[in-house]
Amino acid sequence: MELQVRKRFCSICLMGLLGILGLGCSADSGQADDGNGLNDTMDVSQNRKSVGDSAADLLDGSRFPALHLEIFYVEGLKPSATTLDNFESFLMERLHKPDGVTIALTEISSPGQAVYSITDIRNLEDDIRTAYNQEGILKVFGLFIDGEYSENTENGSVLGVAYRNTSFVIFADTIREFSGQPLAPSTAVLETTVLDHEFGHLLGLVNAGTPLQSTHQDETHGKHCTTEDCLMYWTAETGEGLINMISGGTIPGLDAACLADLQANGGK
Ligand SMILES: [Zn+2]
Ligand SMILES: [Zn+2]
Repeated sequence: MELQVRKRFCSICLMGLLGILGLGCSADSGQADDGNGLNDTMDVSQNRKSVGDSAADLLDGSRFPALHLEIFYVEGLKPSATTLDNFESFLMERLHKPDGVTIALTEISSPGQAVYSITDIRNLEDDIRTAYNQEGILKVFGLFIDGEYSENTENGSVLGVAYRNTSFVIFADTIREFSGQPLAPSTAVLETTVLDHEFGHLLGLVNAGTPLQSTHQDETHGKHCTTEDCLMYWTAETGEGLINMISGGTIPGLDAACLADLQANGGK
């Protein structure tokens, strides 16, 4: 239960793995003050809240009719066109964004670490992110990182974490280790599943900002779904679990219970 004392830690997925209930994290806020093009008056605080805090704004189109994704990837780990197409389809099927969804991809050099904690990832985001909410456009940050997650265990290789209201990280090197195994699903299938799953947390699933419409929260595993073939089942975020969960190369979708939650909170 060491995580409970890390006040700034905000990883729904890891909490799911460890079975810790509740978000237990505090939002940090502040003004951009570095030299990467952010002006002093830009308000970054709206994008530095807890996972699920922007669920309704992501699902509904009234306040933010457009969504922009600013995605960074370490050289060599660019998400494929197939992955991005799949992900965009998932978003269009669930979100009311009449002005559209746009994605900007930017390559970065490796930060050079073998292992990253969420604090490392948050610091990296604060250094490189340039896209923050503006009138009518909700902005989300994604990072495809090399190395591995500091909280991995022998049987739990984390493939992705949603760690702020509009931020997620994908452990793209770890995904490739699993997709490279004999008879394993393709990199695109694994990567899409993890992307959709982490975005599902940003959409407030399960009981993480989007209210439950039925009893389907797997409380043992935190903010996850009790349906074994649902995208939001807890094993969908570890390599070991996902290899067993995916059959025939099919990307898991949301079950009826998760869909009903999203629809009741403004989604499609
Ligand atoms: Zn998860
Ligand atoms: Zn579900």
